[in-house]
Amino acid sequence: MNKIISNYRNIINEIKSYEKEFYESAKNIDLVAVSKTFPAEKIELILNLGHRVFGENRVQEAAEKWPILKKKFDNVELHLIGPLQSNKAKLALEIFDVIQTLDREKLVLKIKEFKENHEQKKDHKFFIQVNTGNEKQKAGIEPDKLIDFVSWCKNDVNLEISGLMCIPPINESSAKHFEILHSLAEKSSLKFLSMGMSNDFKEAIKFGATHVRVGSGIFGKRD
Ligand SMILES: *Cc1c(COP(=O)(O)O)cnc(C)c1O
Repeated sequence: MNKIISNYRNIINEIKSYEKEFYESAKNIDLVAVSKTFPAEKIELILNLGHRVFGENRVQEAAEKWPILKKKFDNVELHLIGPLQSNKAKLALEIFDVIQTLDREKLVLKIKEFKENHEQKKDHKFFIQVNTGNEKQKAGIEPDKLIDFVSWCKNDVNLEISGLMCIPPINESSAKHFEILHSLAEKSSLKFLSMGMSNDFKEAIKFGATHVRVGSGIFGKRD
């Protein structure tokens, strides 16, 4: 069997087994298959198995690959998991269904403006990225500003927020950061939690992830 296909099946089975291990009832955790850097023919291997939820981290790369794939396969849900510049907001809304990386007011206002001025049939979902490790170089809103930011989005801008996302610092154990994100989501009554990658999605599921983002675990090493 093709390696990508067998990797994919293994990840799906692992997710199911962790759901059973940590929860009494099924959670239906979404596997966001992170296809950044991989060409369309590799992505099609799992589209052909019926997988529909994918993640890309660059708007430009997604704009080159996904419009064609979306014509070929129905009901794809494409998530933006990388930083979004305000001047690419319009393009991002055209290509992506879920934006996981809202992290500042200017971007939220830009998105709101486009949604109002460009009648789009698409029903986007928005997540806020939280910089749980307070890392200087990393995108995301600081944890202690999150609650205010969520209520500003909802009440002042009238943009509905669905969930939170985080990328823990490389040199720390992820558990602490997943716990922070989980607790912030509870405090702000948000339902979805995007956390966990190839190396730590088990831990993320333990802490309540609803979306895990797995790239190399499915498609192999990136160049
Ligand atoms: C690349 C990427 C992933 C996937 O990482 P893997 O270690 O390949 O599973 C997940 N989330 C984000 C934000 C990424 O940029």
